[in-house]
Amino acid sequence: MDRRPLIAGNWKMHTTAQEAQQLAASVVKAANSVPDRDVMIAPPYTALAAVSATLAGTGVILGAQNVHWEEQGAFTGEISAPMLKELGCGMAIIGHSERRHVFGETDGMINKRIKGAMQFGLIPVFCIGETLEQREAEQTMQVLEAQVRSGLDAVDLTDGSRIVVAYEPVWAIGTGKTASESQAQEAHGFIRNLLENIYEKNIAAQIRILYGGSVKPENVDILMQQNDIDGALVGGAALKAEMFERIICFH
Ligand code: PEP
Repeated sequence: MDRRPLIAGNWKMHTTAQEAQQLAASVVKAANSVPDRDVMIAPPYTALAAVSATLAGTGVILGAQNVHWEEQGAFTGEISAPMLKELGCGMAIIGHSERRHVFGETDGMINKRIKGAMQFGLIPVFCIGETLEQREAEQTMQVLEAQVRSGLDAVDLTDGSRIVVAYEPVWAIGTGKTASESQAQEAHGFIRNLLENIYEKNIAAQIRILYGGSVKPENVDILMQQNDIDGALVGGAALKAEMFERIICFH
């Protein structure tokens, strides 16, 4: 099964609207040179409108860094899927480890966010990953299984391209430590099998599984050569135009 690669940039709490537009323009240029893959960027909410204007008419996908499950209501600080759709977003990162560990988001909340996003046609980029402690205690696969099963609880899928999974080992995020390609492939293969248990095989085969955790120009090519690695979710290096351009142009 050929899955279209996806390179995604998570800008976290960085960039003014003006800086975001400049960075987005460099992303468009790189993405245009490699039409065989998808590219998504997730600026902070405050820059979404500006970046949406820069991306208009290009193939680059606008993403949000989170999304609430309700359409509207008394949820101070939250943003809904219809609001994001109105700004031109096609995807939303959900369950990022910073949301889980810094802001206390639970598997239950993440499951609701995934359902809320999908209900309004936003593609979730559903993040999972083990901590260093869990890896050292040899609990990695158990943790991934629990996160996948609860995040996807009662999430019906008839088309595997409507959701993206991102494997991001917490110990590799922003630390400069990357999982080796074999460690990453082992986790991705495990996640693929799990998805085959939950959904029909042909649907599971369509789901893109991204790797995230200190992806950079030096390691993107070898990571992308692994069977079950269908793309990358990039933090730090997505904020540097030249680095992200090179990552987009992986070969
Ligand atoms: C991330 O925040 O999703 C991430 C992978 O960050 P970094 O690339 O900086 O490790």
